[in-house]
Amino acid sequence: MTNKELADLIFPNITKTIEDLRKEYPKRNLPEGAIVTRYAPSPTGFVHVGALFACFVARTFATQSNGVLFLRIEDTDTKRTVDNGISTIINGLKEYNVTFDEGPINDEGDSIGNYGPYIQSQRKEIYQVFVKHLLEQGLAYPCFCNNEELETMRQKQEKTKARIGYYGPWATCRNLSNEQRAERIKNGEPYIIRLKSNGNYNKKIICHDEIRGDLAFPENDVDIVINKSDGLPTYHFAHLVDDYLMGTTHVIRADEWIASFPLHYQLFQMFGFEVPKYAHISPLSKVEDGKTRKLSKRKDPEAAMSYYYELGIPYEAVRLYLATIANSGFEVWHAANPKADISEYKFEFSKMSKSPSLFDLDKLNFICKEYISTLKAEDLYKDVANYLKVFDAEFEKLFTRNPEYSIGFLNIEREQKKPRKDIAYYSDVKKEMWYMFDELFTYKWEDEKDSNAEILLDYMNNYYNENDTQQEWFEKVTEFGRKYNYVPMKEYKVSPDEFKGHTGMICEMLRYIVTTKHQSPNLYDILKLLRKDRIINRIEKYLKK
Ligand code: GLU
Repeated sequence: MTNKELADLIFPNITKTIEDLRKEYPKRNLPEGAIVTRYAPSPTGFVHVGALFACFVARTFATQSNGVLFLRIEDTDTKRTVDNGISTIINGLKEYNVTFDEGPINDEGDSIGNYGPYIQSQRKEIYQVFVKHLLEQGLAYPCFCNNEELETMRQKQEKTKARIGYYGPWATCRNLSNEQRAERIKNGEPYIIRLKSNGNYNKKIICHDEIRGDLAFPENDVDIVINKSDGLPTYHFAHLVDDYLMGTTHVIRADEWIASFPLHYQLFQMFGFEVPKYAHISPLSKVEDGKTRKLSKRKDPEAAMSYYYELGIPYEAVRLYLATIANSGFEVWHAANPKADISEYKFEFSKMSKSPSLFDLDKLNFICKEYISTLKAEDLYKDVANYLKVFDAEFEKLFTRNPEYSIGFLNIEREQKKPRKDIAYYSDVKKEMWYMFDELFTYKWEDEKDSNAEILLDYMNNYYNENDTQQEWFEKVTEFGRKYNYVPMKEYKVSPDEFKGHTGMICEMLRYIVTTKHQSPNLYDILKLLRKDRIINRIEKYLKK
């Protein structure tokens, strides 16, 4: 029995050839050097911040080379598929400006682009054309080993300290004749299809990585499964077929796939296809108990994108941070060009880290504060209101009741050389602003009361004028202070015993009474926003303490 006859027995309905398919997936018409790359998640509905990072990198390289980024859903492992898995991925990434030029656009099966279907479970026959081709060439074979037999083999390998896997002498189904194969298939025995590896474990294969350079591995000699019993391919085989047909020039993916690198090289070479370029991205990591480890979906809340939404971490700040991690030169460039868009920076694979990159929330927090300090108060107001709508409806009511009032508060110490940097996340706004709303205002009653506070009523009634400029305001505070023996710092310092205190102490008292804090944005502005009556109310409330 010839290989062709066996292939026809296994795939009687597959009549297309690789050549036929090639015509359906013509070469893309793109400028020289354009990078075609993809994001290829399983539709689990979960986006890990590491995946966002990889996607951000892929989007950046595709955009700056006038190339293409497409989305491919890898659902050949049907157990991992969840409802709304696709839209969750698309919507989650869109917020970070990671959009796809091609691929599925919703959960209803719609997609854009000419290189689909972009969902692997819809490509079964396409993969089978390639499997059939290998069968015809005698480079693949059906394997009838059941789980029990494979387990016995594994135990034997363990005992004899042999390498684990289905290869060489261990690959028993490799040696069956086509007649034996055909007979067992006709008898209804379950089987899968394995690659008949042509690799020699004692020989080296050099695989080139765009980030890490040349890497040497033993050649792959394992007869890996390429087609499962449900007719769908394994990840490795689908990777070969899809990235070949879809014209991927660069495979940008997590470094957990480095171990499969020699196998993937081998697959492309066995078909005589050009091997795409690979860039394996180092994982985002954190330091725990002095040790560096990968950010874990199980242990680290910040691994999930939901963490960023819930805290109200600005999308653009996250992008800035990802850019900082992606290329070592970015941070310096951004500091020199604070107004320039991220896309104006030229990212390079060679500037990406070969070792795990520290994902540091303190650093992110710092970048958020910097970023928010550059926003116009009106824009920040809108972002915060949008955030509150979802995560804090109660505070949203107060915050949006009088937009001018909230914008006024956000605008304090904003458009100036050294702007205020107390807000990192949208959720911080309530923490920094609650005292501006009478509904939330309350003293920490355990704090010791300032017995001199009474004099502030005199100040409010006889000195404070809402229309004063900041300078006039301060002059009046000084004048008022003198009346009660509080003098400017310069005088006070010379002979502190002679005076009750210095002018700053008046401001301190006032600040504490209206904000319950010892530090706040510019007091003059806060007083102006609160207005005279409410300030007097607060002083009276305080005096009753
Ligand atoms: N589906 C694979 C994953 O989830 C894709 C890896 C790749 O990009 O090739 O990691």
